[in-house]
Amino acid sequence: MKINEEKIQQCLQSAAQRSESEIWEILTKARKLEGLEADDVAALCSISDPDLLGELFRTAREVKDEIYGRRLVLFTPLYVSNLCKNDCAYCAFRSSNRDLNRRALTMDEIAAETSALVDEGHKRVLLVAGEAYPRDGFDYILRAIDTVYSVKRGSGEIRRVNVNVAPLEEVDFKRLKQHNIGTYQIFQETYHRETYAKVHLRGAKTDFDWRLEAMDRAIAAGIDDVGIGVLFGLADWRFELLALQQHIHHLEKRFGIGPHTISVPRLEPATGADLASNPPNPVSDLAFRKIVAILRLMVPYTGIIMSTRETADIRRETFALGVSQISAGSRTNPGGYSSADKKAAAQFSLGDVRSLDEVVADVARLGYIPSFCTGCYRLGRTGADFMDLAKPGEIKRHCAPNGLSSFLEYLMDYGQPKTQETGMVSIANALETMDHEPRQRAQAMLEKIRAGRRDVFC
Ligand code: SF4
Repeated sequence: MKINEEKIQQCLQSAAQRSESEIWEILTKARKLEGLEADDVAALCSISDPDLLGELFRTAREVKDEIYGRRLVLFTPLYVSNLCKNDCAYCAFRSSNRDLNRRALTMDEIAAETSALVDEGHKRVLLVAGEAYPRDGFDYILRAIDTVYSVKRGSGEIRRVNVNVAPLEEVDFKRLKQHNIGTYQIFQETYHRETYAKVHLRGAKTDFDWRLEAMDRAIAAGIDDVGIGVLFGLADWRFELLALQQHIHHLEKRFGIGPHTISVPRLEPATGADLASNPPNPVSDLAFRKIVAILRLMVPYTGIIMSTRETADIRRETFALGVSQISAGSRTNPGGYSSADKKAAAQFSLGDVRSLDEVVADVARLGYIPSFCTGCYRLGRTGADFMDLAKPGEIKRHCAPNGLSSFLEYLMDYGQPKTQETGMVSIANALETMDHEPRQRAQAMLEKIRAGRRDVFC
């Protein structure tokens, strides 16, 4: 696949000429949940009028609500290694950062990290590694995944391991698939080829096309849940959105499925990586909110992931605009959950350092349902099967009850007393607003959890 930069520049130039009434038409079209054309996306990027901005945000809220309701899926990253052969100018793990304390966790250490996460109540992790492996090569990652799944703590366990590792050959993607992963995630970082070359200085990651085509190889190998993303702050964010759209269209055209998730990290300071503190194309908070809102309208059925790079305030604002998954209680250093030195060798600075329980309580207080559900992937509702259910709105019949049941399980097993109190109110409120059939299903599932059953999903 190729990113057509010329077409993007043309779209951005002509966007300035779009009238106010045309913007209103685009927003009306977006409410039909059918996505947007490149010209529409460019036009929305150009909005600066406060009334139109307000309407953009209002439309994004409506679409978010229509498709995802009040659920927010929670996960946390599990960094197993900070070894890396690449030299990315924005990352603390870059090979030229000689001061970094390098380590790849042993399997015992990975089990200890997993135990710490399970004991907090996590059910989903994103396993992350720098782009180099210890002596056993890629097998290290496969053993790490198996180790995470093997940890059982009473009824607590990790039920879905998503993976963010270097782009692989198709044959290794096939092996990854056999180890029962959820989503394979990799970010292009920037789709702007010239910027990409400037910030990726050494190692395999200098190959723009090898990275861009990673998802083609992954899907061809049978991994039908893939996650893409941009590191905002490297190139013009408007260019990145239009390039993301081209990437998505390419995958849809070739395989009939788009990405399961899009991540929207913004550059944050990282030790030994000055560029991270001085982004070449800084993204203001307002522009960041626009990015989330436009993505919500551009790809209504694709999950949007917000990490703990952002502050609690920004995270709260973007939940309503379109975010559907958040990380919580995160550490970005290998060993960060179970070792004493929780600050050593982190990949970047965190804006939200609250514990999982604090985030859960906050999210519930705002009227959302924190969901730990892993049902779809375990029932094989992935890729095209997931989209077939998601597009006519069918998936809500599963997600809403599953979200409530997994939330109650969390509250009963791990919630602090105050969180339990807030959470029970949220569950009662959510039940009240549900249609008859899903409410009955949810009530039956909640009853099973109260009676001591765990891992109840439909
Ligand atoms: S961004 Fe990834 S590939 Fe680049 S230096 Fe950091 S860990 Fe390595």
